Amino acid sequence: MYLMDIFCKIINKEIPAEIIYENNHVIAFNDINPVAPIHVLIVPKTHMEGLNNLPEEGDQQHILNAAAEIAKQLGVSDGYRLVINCGEKAGQTVFHLHAHLIAGRDLAWPPG
Ligand code: AMP
Repeated sequence: MYLMDIFCKIINKEIPAEIIYENNHVIAFNDINPVAPIHVLIVPKTHMEGLNNLPEEGDQQHILNAAAEIAKQLGVSDGYRLVINCGEKAGQTVFHLHAHLIAGRDLAWPPG
């Protein structure tokens, strides 16, 4: 049986989150443990574990479109980073695909 992950519960409004953007395809909310002044998670409403489970088209476009729109809304279009951790080795801890939008401070490259 599939047990709902924490992001599915946020999507279903079963647990609260600071939602800053939502449309039919994605929801975006502030990360509970931010690593920068702006740290938003962009989450497709359809459950998939991670980047390796993307459909051929659809949600990837919705995630990127939402990222650009949120950056605009937050006034950081001139400097932000999108990160998708894929797999435990890369630091993925929630196995529901999500992109981190990070901004509001200088962002080093390469990332750690
Ligand atoms: P990742 O490590 O890439 O899987 O990212 C998971 C992110 O989800 C982490 O940055 C957590 O701080 C964040 N997170 C976990 N639970 C919540 C929650 N209930 N509300 C907001 N962010 C959360």
